[in-house]
Amino acid sequence: LPADIYGPSRRNPLGRDYSRLIEREAAERSTVLIGGERPSAGAIVGGQMIAAHQTPVTSPSDRSRVIGYVAEASPGDIDAAVKFARKAQPRWNAIGGAGRALVLRAMGNALDAHMDMFVALLSLEAGKTLNDGVAEVREAVDFCRYYADLAERQFGTPTLLPGPVGEVNQLELAGRGVFACISPWNFPLAIFTGQIAAALAAGNAVLAKPAEQTPLVAAKAVLLFHAAGLDPDLLALLPGDGAKVGAAIVNHPGIDGVAFTGGTETAWAINRSLAARNGPIVPLIAETGGLNGMFVDTTALREQVVDDVILSAFGSAGQRCSALRLLFVPHDSADEMIATLKGAMDALVIGDPANATTDVGPVIDAEAREALVAHRERLARDAVVLHGCTAPEGGDFFGPLLVEIPSADFLEREVFGPILHIVRYDPADLDAVADKLASRGYGLTLGIHSRIEGFAERVRARVPAGNVYVNRSIIGAVVGVQPFGGEGLSGTGPKAGGPHSLLRYATERAVSVNI
Ligand code: GLU
Repeated sequence: LPADIYGPSRRNPLGRDYSRLIEREAAERSTVLIGGERPSAGAIVGGQMIAAHQTPVTSPSDRSRVIGYVAEASPGDIDAAVKFARKAQPRWNAIGGAGRALVLRAMGNALDAHMDMFVALLSLEAGKTLNDGVAEVREAVDFCRYYADLAERQFGTPTLLPGPVGEVNQLELAGRGVFACISPWNFPLAIFTGQIAAALAAGNAVLAKPAEQTPLVAAKAVLLFHAAGLDPDLLALLPGDGAKVGAAIVNHPGIDGVAFTGGTETAWAINRSLAARNGPIVPLIAETGGLNGMFVDTTALREQVVDDVILSAFGSAGQRCSALRLLFVPHDSADEMIATLKGAMDALVIGDPANATTDVGPVIDAEAREALVAHRERLARDAVVLHGCTAPEGGDFFGPLLVEIPSADFLEREVFGPILHIVRYDPADLDAVADKLASRGYGLTLGIHSRIEGFAERVRARVPAGNVYVNRSIIGAVVGVQPFGGEGLSGTGPKAGGPHSLLRYATERAVSVNI
């Protein structure tokens, strides 16, 4: 690999080691501090936060605990944000990739410097464990630094193209204008910041609509972008309900592109709204769900499989779109695999995410919990429940669950939470089993555990997936290392954190000069 593959500024921020008492105590202290602060989120337009008519934000691990307040953006806020953004964007585009990279790197450094505050707020507002919080802040920093490098390389000097003598041909990239960035609650900092950083790096202004469950992390991040030197007119925060505020932003005539991460149904709705406009044709970058499988054969190392399965299925309470939903195990080794999985599930600590020893925190809200409970009831009726962990009372907790189902057909759609479905298969039927998974139409992550290369090739050939992981877990894509994103029902690409990430955020201009 070329020595500069990570680019000049690609340094990962340091993590935290919560096995050390001093770091653990510092993290737990900042959770208490941030919890006491009761931050606010409202529309941030032209650098001003408009926070009238606030409603309380409570914590998923304890619904009686108010951790801050939020006010929804009004239609007037959206209009004003578009006006500011349209005015500021041409200058931002004109300063070029190198100028924009300076601001993005400053943001990366600022996030790194505020890591403990964000870890605490992620734990309080999104129910993230401290370790997940650290990983998330580091990913957000990585996005800023990686896209800064791309901005410098791809939005610097135009690419010279061949042509006849006497003619100079070149291709340049420019921002499209104003991008709407609509992000999910499961990565309220990393995906939120990643979308914004990509759109900004490509020369756009941004209207950011955070998930309704996580406005506080988003507001802190937007204010930090401004403090890091970004012209506040270039980045507005518009919190609120997706069907109301999100839809109003998408339907606004002043929008030139939409980046969306969330459910497949919402991506369809956005696509329909964009298609119904009579005006410039607006691109959608969508990263949606997955029905992710892992195929194990008899040569796989059972302990390693179990480690990777537990992390992939139950880590982050199963609330990643990359998470493992379906584990395919050959008949011969299924009983042993299930017994080891049960043992590993019993060792999981489920509870308060602000406690450094917790493995599995709450799910995001009561609605998410109810959907999981409804699915569990269906499983108890129509499938074989193999093992369940007890969940604590008082918050939106759901104990990890292991069930056996007859085939991938049993699942109509993604079930977002810590439920792992096992399918036993006869190795003679491998192709048919794989085809059934592929026929669900998703294409996000795929895991394979085998010591035989041909096995991985065979599964890969039948199951489309944007991210394939062999003999490891299937979550935690690293920026610039595993560019992330799927195909089919799982999204449009381009992948986040990859060398082509910025291209759809930009427009291409070919210039021919007869000299
Ligand atoms: N990039 C994350 C991962 O690799 C998942 C992102 C998501 O859930 O949207 O685990």
